[in-house]
Amino acid sequence: MNVDLHCHSTFSDGLLAPAVLLERAHWRGVDVLALTDHDETAGLAEARAAAAQWNIRLIDGVEISISWGDHTIHIVGLGIDPEYSALHEGLKRIRHTRDSRAVRIGDELAKVGIEGAYAGALTYAGNPALVSRAHFARYLVEQGHAGDFRSVFDHYLAVGKPGYVEHQWATLEEAVGWIRDSGGMAVIAHPARYRVTKDEMRQFITRFKALGGEGIEVVSGAHSHEEYQEYALVAKEFGLLASRASDFHGPSESKVDLGSLPDLPADLKPVWHGW
Ligand code: AMP
Ligand code: MN
Ligand code: MN
Ligand code: MN
Repeated sequence: MNVDLHCHSTFSDGLLAPAVLLERAHWRGVDVLALTDHDETAGLAEARAAAAQWNIRLIDGVEISISWGDHTIHIVGLGIDPEYSALHEGLKRIRHTRDSRAVRIGDELAKVGIEGAYAGALTYAGNPALVSRAHFARYLVEQGHAGDFRSVFDHYLAVGKPGYVEHQWATLEEAVGWIRDSGGMAVIAHPARYRVTKDEMRQFITRFKALGGEGIEVVSGAHSHEEYQEYALVAKEFGLLASRASDFHGPSESKVDLGSLPDLPADLKPVWHGW
């Protein structure tokens, strides 16, 4: 069974509309797909209709941005109820603060001579309530400020760069609570991508588990093969369910396509074991 439990549509910073994403998943042989837009569930209705057409099992998902100390971490919710009010209201609050953050990113970029970046990013956002750094990155590449999508982050948008602004996202407690109370399972997204020490990651996982978090992405489009091995061990040590997660954003930007990651190591318990 080909399971892919993390991807993005135009309702956040993906390049494909949900219906196009589902058609692509079909042609790529995906049986079970979770749409996990950043802080947004509005794409799920279109995805659900397309999933029925292509005979794909769609898992209602979301990728929630949280602040943990100085760090921004992403928590994926799988099998959530997007109508559940605490989740719905919580995500609405995050989107609201995203907008003021995007204005601040634009102000910071103006200080280094890049004018109009907020308006420019908005032209790339399929959902004006959900402006992400990926939209700024596309605009900055278009304007010739960097050669490609990845190097924009290195020069302008990553932590410590001119267009990076501090931001307070949801708390870990809120994100795991909203996900669980809505009937879903909380999963740590791409754990190898955070600038935390191994000790901090262990503290984080311990807290995540205490709150009822259950899973971790092991085979991720954002991980190297060495990192699959590293997080397979972490999953086993902490008794976490393991996820397979492309984090696909679009054909031109993502190196891993839908459904095309290696299988999970056989000795791990997948998050879908009980589905
Ligand atoms: P935001 O949630 O607005 O901070 O935007 C984060 C998004 O920007 C991620 O979900 C990725 O889509 C993209 N992103 C962040 N860092 C990088 C990077 N170093 N290279 C490529 N894309 C990145
Ligand atoms: Mn993204
Ligand atoms: Mn993420
Ligand atoms: Mn993602």
